[in-house]
Order: sequence, then structure tokens, then C-alpha cells
Amino acid sequence: MSFVKGLKCRECGREYPKEPIYVCEFCFGSLEVVYDYEKIGRALTRKAIAARPPALWRYRELLPIDGDPTVGLTSGFTPLVPARNLARELGVKTLYIKDDSTCHPTMSFKDRVVAVALTKAKEFGFETVACASTGNLANAVSAHAAAAGLGCYVFIPGDLEMGKIISSLVYAPKVVAVEGNYDEVNRLCSEIAGKYRWGFVNINLRPYYAEGSKTIAFEIAEQLGWLAPAHVVVPLASGSLSTKVWKGLKELHKLRLIPDLPTRVHAAQAEGCSPIVTAFKEGSDVIRPVKPKTIAKSLAIGNPADGYYAIQTLQESGGTGETATDEEIVDAIKLLARTEGIFTETAGGVTLAVAKKLIKQGRIPPEEPIVVCVTGNGLKTQEAVAHQIGQPIRIRPSLKSFEEAVGSIQ
Ligand SMILES: *Cc1c(COP(=O)(O)O)cnc(C)c1O
Repeated sequence: MSFVKGLKCRECGREYPKEPIYVCEFCFGSLEVVYDYEKIGRALTRKAIAARPPALWRYRELLPIDGDPTVGLTSGFTPLVPARNLARELGVKTLYIKDDSTCHPTMSFKDRVVAVALTKAKEFGFETVACASTGNLANAVSAHAAAAGLGCYVFIPGDLEMGKIISSLVYAPKVVAVEGNYDEVNRLCSEIAGKYRWGFVNINLRPYYAEGSKTIAFEIAEQLGWLAPAHVVVPLASGSLSTKVWKGLKELHKLRLIPDLPTRVHAAQAEGCSPIVTAFKEGSDVIRPVKPKTIAKSLAIGNPADGYYAIQTLQESGGTGETATDEEIVDAIKLLARTEGIFTETAGGVTLAVAKKLIKQGRIPPEEPIVVCVTGNGLKTQEAVAHQIGQPIRIRPSLKSFEEAVGSIQ
């Protein structure tokens, strides 16, 4: 059963059928999925959701597929961790980590978008899927394509972290490392997508793919007992995730699954790649592309496709944005590890560093509930912290050597 009416241009409102297309032929606006919310309202209740398996497909009516889900059946429903030690350290009352670095097949939030994109690719009859990626998307597409029996090409910038490269190659897709940054990879992929009949998850399948990000918001609300938090801090690359967190919460509110919508969505970017936050701070909605220079490679998109809509999200929700330096990113990774036992990748470092800043600046008041989205796992970006976390205590295999090394032990 389908709850999707079709696609619609976000700019001129022109409607399109459900096809693997992503731009309006008339105004070049981007296309978005339109749902039949009345029909969804009759089918989707808190009780129905609670009875379903703990995966993102429990919100299936709000996802853009026509048949049953076929890919990524175990993706999603990651922990919402009450971070009491971290909250104390930051001087706030209630802080949660939405921990997408774990309980996902490839340990990042990209398993959400790919579950939806590849289920849709199969519905469209694609035999090969592809993506332009800053790393995590390549991992998720590679893994899910392998499991789904689809051909797979992933395109990445040449200078990615080893962990991200290995975590694609192991699934045996075609990994194409392009000499250039993500924006150059993406430009090349748009050309390739025009020529080959592939399901490019973040190009011709983008309207469907992007909807998968809403599930992080659905889960946060459900895990809070069907309430929306006062603040959500989200990392931005293309900006898509931030817009979909907001869209997801608005949908729950529209369907009366949450009683009210107090949430402010806040944007986190690395200082070395902050085109969206910079524009927002300048009070502009025109994104000036930048050349990224940051250790947060998963967020290193200098010309973000959804930047304009991300700024609208911040404005509409009353949120704000901040940036984090490389040093602050590493400090935040270590802070999260030390206080909560969670090892995040650089993107999570950006997000926590920005949350910390917004709390310090008083823009997030200490008594209001905060959710920080940790979107990827630290084991994939070990080189970012390798030289800043000390060394093991090296000893010979004897008690004497041990006691000499550690000093006097009572
Ligand atoms: C892709 C990615 C994001 C942000 O994605 P958007 O393009 O803004 O939707 C955030 N964190 C991690 C770890 C990512 O891989």
C-alpha cells in the first residue's frame, strides 16, 4: 500500500509522478515527495508503531515506498542515551545523545537513507546503484547493495580516511577514488548519472533517499515518550539531514503523534567548511561555496545542495548555528568518550563542540532538554585522534615491570 501521492517542485509547486527524477524541468527547483496525510493518519498510530520491530521501517507510512521494504530491514532505532555525566560537565539539566554511531549495519546515520533509497531503487527496477560520497554513504551503499544483490559503484574523494575506504572495499563494490574534493566528485557524478541508467542514491533517487533522514526525528520523539525536545543539534554536510529532522517533527505534529512542537533545530559545521552557518550568521540565504579544509571529512561539502533549505529550517524552528575548529572537534570527541563511553567520528565531534558552544553562549538555556545527534562511529576516523590520546604503558611480561611502570600501587 502506498501513501505517496507523487513528487512536487519545492520552488514552483509543479507536480510530477513517482519517477527517478530530482529537478523541476521548468524552474530547476528540487523535487520533494508528497504524502497523503489523511490516509497516513488513519493507518499510523502510536500503538501500531509500538507493535512493530525496532527498525526505521516502523514508520513505513511516512517513507516514500510503494511496496514492502526490502533493504536495510535492521537499520535504525538506535539508542537515545541519557548522557548524565556529559550533562553535568556542560552544566545542563537534560541532555541526550541520539547515537547513530551504533546499531546500524555500517555504523552511521547513512544506513537510514540507504535503506529507503535502495528499497526504492528495487521498486524502480534498477540493477546497479551508485553514489557520490564523503565516506559514510559509500559504506552504506556498498553494504546494502551487496545484501540486495545489486551492482554498485561508489565515488569518493581521493583523500578519505583509511577506515572509510576499507569499510567500502570489503563489500566488493567498484570504488572510484576521484582526484578532487567532494564537490568535484559530485559534479562528475551528475554527468555520469545523466549517461548511465543507474540508481544514483543522492542524485536521481535523492527525493526518496533524503526522506530516510526523517526517521531519526521520529525515533527521538518516540523514545522521549512521544514528545519533541526543546533543542536538537545536527551536523550539516549537504544540509539535508537538518531539513528532514524538522520535516519529520512537523509531520508527527500534523498527525497529532506529538502534542506540540517546541523544537529549535541548531546547525553544526566545521570552521574549515561552514558555508551554511556562515550565510546564516550573515543573515543571508545565499550560500557562497567554499573549499573545505577540515578533519571532519564526512561533512566537507563546500557547495551544499540543501544549504538554502537548511537556513529556512533554522529560521522556521528558531534555531541557530555555530562552527567548531579542528582542535575543538578532537576535544569534543575525547569529552564524549570520557564522559559517556561513546566513540564518535569527527562529525560527532563537530556536533558536540557546537552544542557546548551554544550552551556556553546561553543560546541553549541549561534547563531545557537537548538532543545531540551523533551520526558516525570513531573507529572509521581513527587518524583524527590517533596522536592526541596518549600512549599505552609498555612493559615486559612480569609483575616487577608492571609495578615499576605504574609506580606505587596500594
Ligand atoms: C552525511 C553525514 C552527515 C550530514 O549529511 P547531510 O548531507 O547534511 O544530510 C552527518 N554526519 C555524518 C557522519 C555523515 O556521514
